[in-house]
Order: sequence, then structure tokens, then C-alpha cells
Amino acid sequence: MTARVLIVDDVPANLKLLDAKLTAEYFDVLKASSGPEALEIAKEQQPDIILLDVMMPGMDGFEVCRRLKDMPETEHIPVVMVTALDQPKDRVQGLESGADDFLTKPLNDLALFARVRSLVRLKMVTDELRMREATGQRIGALSAKGGDNFLMSEPGRILAIDDRPTSLKRITETLAGEHMVTVAETQDELMQLAQSGNFDLHIVSLTLQEYDGLRLCSQLRSLEATRQTPILVIVEDGDTGRLVRALDMGVNDYLVRPVERNELVARARSQLRRKRYQDYLRDKFQQGLELAITDGLTGLHNRRYMEGHLATLVTDAANTGKPVSLLIFDIDHFKPVNDTYGHAAGDAVLKQFADRIANNVRGVDLACRLGGEEFVVVMPDTDIEYATSVAERLRQCIAAKPFLLDDGGRELDVTVSIGIAVTSGPNDTVAKLMERADQGLYRAKRDGRNRVAAEAA
Ligand code: GH3
Ligand code: MG
Ligand code: MG
Repeated sequence: MTARVLIVDDVPANLKLLDAKLTAEYFDVLKASSGPEALEIAKEQQPDIILLDVMMPGMDGFEVCRRLKDMPETEHIPVVMVTALDQPKDRVQGLESGADDFLTKPLNDLALFARVRSLVRLKMVTDELRMREATGQRIGALSAKGGDNFLMSEPGRILAIDDRPTSLKRITETLAGEHMVTVAETQDELMQLAQSGNFDLHIVSLTLQEYDGLRLCSQLRSLEATRQTPILVIVEDGDTGRLVRALDMGVNDYLVRPVERNELVARARSQLRRKRYQDYLRDKFQQGLELAITDGLTGLHNRRYMEGHLATLVTDAANTGKPVSLLIFDIDHFKPVNDTYGHAAGDAVLKQFADRIANNVRGVDLACRLGGEEFVVVMPDTDIEYATSVAERLRQCIAAKPFLLDDGGRELDVTVSIGIAVTSGPNDTVAKLMERADQGLYRAKRDGRNRVAAEAA
């Protein structure tokens, strides 16, 4: 995997060394020798990851990181701080300024490359979701995101496994103030809880006595129910081999023993924020899909969806010989309802109409709003006799009981005319079927309304 890496350092020799190492690994390298220059390049060149020196004259790395995370154009780019500072408080300050990781010089090359690859891979997931959101906004299905306070508004649900009682106690005690922590004692218990528990973060020790922590991580990554949940692993200081394998496997972040409390808090927080951002983007995407195929007023499927669905059914019908029936509804004298009682009353009637129809057809039937006061019910595997009896039942169900016009209790009798058509033979099309149902509807209107008429092919 290749990636564009922006390296930032005020010492030319450091830049040169890191450039040589990364280029040898086939990364594409961009260089900046000050904070302001880094911000400029990040904005314009959109690197996949930024390796950032902390101690620089003028604007230090913490400040650069904060600014990167504040700009919409760069907030999604992972930042790794690279520094000679090695105190826990420096690491925590780095994480709190928004850095994804904090590596101490002298760098272990293997760990560095593995971390760069892992962060770039994780970024690709977010990029894909961000792209979908941008598309959703362009087609008007999604509104722009407002603020990110929602990202940390609730405590996280965390599941941890570690067979060292003191270490486990330290983890739970540290995180319990802010989150809900569940503890698993065995591998089986962890997998069981993880699959049913809907957790926001999994913490796995890689140095379990009786189990293989790496195998656990790989199971969590491969199961449908757990693959989206971030994993934070705990490794022994100097165990680069395991760490590199864990990162290559898709683990999101790691802590080195002895686990430093504030660092644990900061890393858990940043994983939770990322998870929630991704969940949010996924939900939005789902919502966008639903909006695109749903009628806003009635909640029924819209015309676009109906036509796609009907096309599939008509093709099926041609192949299997099973008939598909189509009912087209048009509410009688609806214009006077609006003119007399107002548009809101008209909308109330349309909603109740939709509910009555949807509640009186089978699960396999599809009720949709074509537009205005026209509706459709598509019925697979249904012949003309059965379709006619359903249409008649629906007509009666509309006429039987008056509709509410408003909360004040005003009521109105409503009737509907229904046209029916059924597929005939392998050469039938959606357009022809709709055309015949429309002719049936026209006849029902002409013959006096509040009635059902079928049109033969
Ligand atoms: P007919 O019995 O011949 O069908 O008469 P009609 O009055 O129902 O027919 P027409 O097609 O002339 O009128 C349809 C009316 O539906 C016109 C419009 O005011 C109303 N309408 C269309 N969409 C909406 C809507 O979303 N909300 C409301 N309240 N009214 C709508
Ligand atoms: Mg009409
Ligand atoms: Mg009408």
C-alpha cells in the first residue's frame, strides 16, 4: 500500500533521514520545515497522514495539530507526533490536541511503518463514508452536519479482556469515571459478550497467558457483529513483533505497559469519537437512502421506488408466468377538500388514506404514493379476480368511515376510484401495465366515481 506522507520537522537533517526511510518503503513524501508551512501543504495537497515534530520554533507541534483538527479540510487527516519528548504528560498533551499517535525518537522503523499503514487504512474507511455524505448533501437527501458535541455526549460502552488482575483493575478503575466498562475473563466470554453487547470499544491484552490475543483480535475483525468496533490493544514494551502484526490486522490503537492512566483515557476517548463519527456517517447514509425512496408526507414508498420494484416483478412475471396486479387509486373530488378546508386538512386526509391502504394489504404487496392524491398498490402473484376483490375491499374501507380533517374533530366522507390491470404474457411492460390501469381508473371516474374498474389487456 502506498500513501502520501507529509513530514514536518524544523531540522533539515531529520527531514532528510525520514524522507529517505519512507521513500525506500515506497511512500510518497511531502516535506515542511515549519508549522505554518505544514498547515498550508496539508490544506492544499491533502496528504494521507502527517508525521509531526513537536518542538519547533514559532508554532510548536501541539498547536499545529490543534489547527489541523480545527479545519474542515484537514480534520480527517491522521496525525502522528514524532518527538524526543517521552514523558507521559507530553503524550497525553499530544493526544488531547487531537493527534492519533505519539511516537518517541529514536523511531523503531518497523513500528513506524506499520503505524503509518494502519492509520492510512483506517482513514480510507472514513474517507469512503465522508464521500457518501458529500453525495447525499449534493442530491439534497442529507443536511450538513452541525457541530460535533454529539460525538462525546454519552458514556462509551467498553469491553475489556486481560488476565492480569492488577492490570484489569487499573483499566476498569481508570475508565469507569467516564464510561461503562464490562470485563471478560475468558476468550469465550469475550466473544460472546462482544457479539451480543453492541460495544463502542474493545480493549484486548496481547499478552494473555492462556489465549492468543492476536487471534482474538482477528476474530473480532472478521465477525459481522464486531468488525466495525475499534480495538485498542495492550502490548509489552519492546514487543514490536506483536504490535506490528496487530496493526497490520486492523487494530486501531495500542498502549504500552505499564499502562499510563491519562494516556488510556485519552486514547479511549479518541477511539470513541472516531467510532461515533463513523456511526453517524453510516446512519446518515442509511437515512439518505430511505429518504430517496420514501414519500415525505405519507411515509409510503415513492414513485421512483415503485417503478423499480414493478420493473423487477414484471420481468419475473414474464419468466414464471405468475401474474402481477396493479391498482391505481385516485381520490374523488379531492380539489374541493383543499379549497374548502385548506391544504393542511387535505394533507391530513392524504396521510389517513395512506394508512388505511397500507394497513389493509398483505406484507408482500407494495403500497406507494404516485404523487398528489394518486396511489398505487402492486400485488405480486395475484390474478385479476383476487385483485378485484382486494380493490373492492379497499374502496369500501375508504368509504366506510369519515376522515378527520384536524384536531378539532371536524370530519369528512371520502371516496376513491380504482383502476386495475394485470400482466399478460411475456411482452408486457411496466408502461403498458400502468397505461391499462389508468384506463380502468378513467372508466371508474366516468361511470360515477367511488367504484372499481378493471381493464383487460
Ligand atoms: P377527481 O374526482 O376527478 O379525481 O377530482 P379531483 O378534485 O380529485 O382531481 P384533481 O386532479 O383536479 O385534483 C387533485 C387535487 O389534489 C389538486 C391539488 O390541490 C390536490 N393535491 C395534490 N397534491 C397534494 C398534496 O400534497 N397535499 C394536498 N393537500 N393537496 C394536494
Ligand atoms: Mg388526480
Ligand atoms: Mg382525484
